[in-house]
Amino acid sequence: MSELLLDGETYDYLWLTDRSHAKAQQILRRYHGCTERPCCQCLTDKRNRQLVIKVRGQRYYLARKADTSHHHAEWCLLYEPPETGGPSAKQKPAIQYEGDTVNVKLQTRLTRASFTTTQTDDKPVAEDKPNLPHKKAPSLKPARASTRPVGLFQALIQKAQLNDWQPQQTERPFAASTRALAKAAQTVTLEKQQPVAERLVITLWERNLEHSQAINLAALQTRTDNPQQAAIVVGEIMACRNSTKIEGSIGLKLKLLNVPLWLPPPLARKATNSFAQLFDEIGKPDRRILAIAAVFRNKTSFVVSDIGLIRTNRQFIPVDSSYELQVTDKLIAEQRRFSKPLKLEGELRYLPDFLLHDCQIPWVMEVFGITNDDKYQAHKLEKLQYYRDHGIPCWQWEPDAEKVMPDFPVKT
Ligand SMILES: [Zn+2]
Repeated sequence: MSELLLDGETYDYLWLTDRSHAKAQQILRRYHGCTERPCCQCLTDKRNRQLVIKVRGQRYYLARKADTSHHHAEWCLLYEPPETGGPSAKQKPAIQYEGDTVNVKLQTRLTRASFTTTQTDDKPVAEDKPNLPHKKAPSLKPARASTRPVGLFQALIQKAQLNDWQPQQTERPFAASTRALAKAAQTVTLEKQQPVAERLVITLWERNLEHSQAINLAALQTRTDNPQQAAIVVGEIMACRNSTKIEGSIGLKLKLLNVPLWLPPPLARKATNSFAQLFDEIGKPDRRILAIAAVFRNKTSFVVSDIGLIRTNRQFIPVDSSYELQVTDKLIAEQRRFSKPLKLEGELRYLPDFLLHDCQIPWVMEVFGITNDDKYQAHKLEKLQYYRDHGIPCWQWEPDAEKVMPDFPVKT
């Protein structure tokens, strides 16, 4: 789910680097040798996340610049930990876990541009923000990183433990999962310690369809009462259609919400580029495509200002690819205890695709879905070597080479 910005357009990293995709190759060919370079959007600080377009034979591919792999967010596909563990002038991360709570610095503006709003009780006051003199002395510390909506969504999933699977479960239905997200939101704050719950609308199931739709719409209306403030809407995308009135605008239909969320043309183009694969998968019965969107009210319509999509299996476990989806579904069918790590924990240097917890020592599980990329191949070998050196058992699947998924390690 890494996004690259290139010449004002955003692209999904996996899509753009898919060498079998003619359109992606065409774009890389066009910008090869050009001063415009693709830049990963996982974080917003000033560190270099540019990629260089290289060519070998007839094929174009992307390469990171030397020593930039640790400039990416830990969840980014381009991330690799720095070579030395020394405490450099490290910037504070966008997502900070502190005890029981998590604080997220969101890049997305939740107030309309040129306005800042301060909320006192129920009376929001909008005020123009002139060039106020800085009261604080300039800090020498690097500014804190910030994250896109997907980062906030991952923090919510992590807090709700939707990325953990217990084998005694067989199902984790929509109602329970969305309630777990709503409960987790109580422990998540945004900048200035604002509880995310104050902004959040999670489309919930309560009693019946009609009642659910009514409470969800009411929540959305309440959170967008002030036209200067955005709600953060989280839900499952059921359908996506083009507007018949505004060319290039698209409307998203969320489950249990009977008003569409509108993406204006520039955002619609950006989002369908960034999440091309996920938009294509909307409506597939074996998975869920979830959205997190900043939404303002514009008269009677609800307009999205920023959006992120993630793919989960039916039980709300996030998966990065269709191969990973197959792995989760098989693990569930075989009643295994596993997790989908969303942040680095313990001593692991790399973020594994999955962790299997019901063996004597936890196994890492890796799905190597890309086989025609030398960089990826080198990274894969490095990772496997690291696991070997540290005595970490690793289950792996390379779908291109093995059509049938290998058996999982035996429970002990
Ligand atoms: Zn990145």
